Amino acid sequence: MAIIVQKFGGTSVGSGERIRGVGDIIADTLGDHQVVAVVSAISGTVKSEGTTSKILEASERAVRGEPFADAIQFIEDNHLGAIETAVSSAPLRKALEAEVHDDLARLTSLLEAIQVIRELSPRSQDLLLGTGERLAARTLTASLQDRGINADYIDLSEVVNEDEREIDPAFFDRTQRMLAERCLPQEGTVPIVTGFFGLVPGGLLRAVGRGYTDFTAAMISAGLGSGRVAELQVWKEVDGIFTADPRKVPKAHVLRRISPLEASELTYFGSEVLHPFTMERVVSANIPIRLKNTFHPAGEGTLIVPRPEKTAARVTAVTAKRGITIVTVSSNRMYNAYGFLEGVFKVLADHGAVVDLVSTSEVSISFTIERGDNLRATKDSLERFGTVTVNAGRAILSMVGEGMKFAVGTSGLMFSALGSAGVNIEMISQGASEINISCVIREEDTQKGLQAVHRAFLEGP
Ligand code: ASP
Ligand code: MG
Repeated sequence: MAIIVQKFGGTSVGSGERIRGVGDIIADTLGDHQVVAVVSAISGTVKSEGTTSKILEASERAVRGEPFADAIQFIEDNHLGAIETAVSSAPLRKALEAEVHDDLARLTSLLEAIQVIRELSPRSQDLLLGTGERLAARTLTASLQDRGINADYIDLSEVVNEDEREIDPAFFDRTQRMLAERCLPQEGTVPIVTGFFGLVPGGLLRAVGRGYTDFTAAMISAGLGSGRVAELQVWKEVDGIFTADPRKVPKAHVLRRISPLEASELTYFGSEVLHPFTMERVVSANIPIRLKNTFHPAGEGTLIVPRPEKTAARVTAVTAKRGITIVTVSSNRMYNAYGFLEGVFKVLADHGAVVDLVSTSEVSISFTIERGDNLRATKDSLERFGTVTVNAGRAILSMVGEGMKFAVGTSGLMFSALGSAGVNIEMISQGASEINISCVIREEDTQKGLQAVHRAFLEGP
């Protein structure tokens, strides 16, 4: 039987009822597939109230020598509350409560040690972080056993070899093989896997970042391979990928299909779709990804698969990224001077500033960086190249669609839609791949701009 890898996000396992709901989804899938379930740490709808955020908060407090007990208490209350509803058999519940208690006691003693030494190494941070996914996976395992499913708890915290010292390009390939080996389901059992894998050289947050469980599920799927895995399903709290953020554009609708390239562009330009590392790994392994809503499991969701041929729609979706600053360096020295761009980008790299859009003329270069990208220091260092001006409070509005390759006049229509809505465009960028046309506008025009472009391309007459 083919395997479906199902990843459940923090909100999808956010309470006892939600965990039971996940049990229903797994039970339904087991009819005609084997399942490998990968879970994130329990979270409410507010990310800062999620277990992972609370662990990070506690560790920041510990390293400053401050008390952190209320953060741990919050985590404990949340889990005990969820367990009460998710597990009805008394012996199973008792055993699980004891495990939760032990795990949190270990977390507390680690934090106490950090409080004393006032130092938090990446390795200690990984040790702390993994607790969130372990607790969630244990709870889901017990809840499934409670309803007679042969669930098998799998902890990936120690999958990475002790002697791994740095993240070289082959690191994730090696890890992927080991993850797949650990997660291959035995006939009749359902592996319930911690979305945390560790301990990663330099720390998981640096190597992958928040939202790492998507990537864990991606590596497991790719490692098991398309011969075994029919689909990677990522279960979240939304119906799929939309033509625009439905909170800002009421007429936005769910896309039934989207190509991996389009989904990646949307991720990089402001839509929280999937962890950015996920797509490439799964798609190059020839495995489709489906996004589904745990609150509405009957919905079809969005399927991420390469486009077979040209499609009719030229624009697939529109997205916006706020908190953008435009920096312009003007210098007549740029004229005929080689090494100017290199110099500018070297400064940006030295300051760790991430650039999204770039546009140049004979005498100036403009680029966008994100708020908080070390602006003051970056500006000072750039001044040796010429006059530097900074415009904060901007947003990048992007149209994404592989169909744009085959259409003429798309950017013209975008600009006139924005113009008619009274939205001023300050920078424009279109790559030669023609899958993304982006422009920079004022942040306060974001919603108006999104609606105008959505109306022009993605709504009926
Ligand atoms: N629990 C982790 C986080 O909140 C990882 C994840 O959700 O994928 O970032
Ligand atoms: Mg998450």
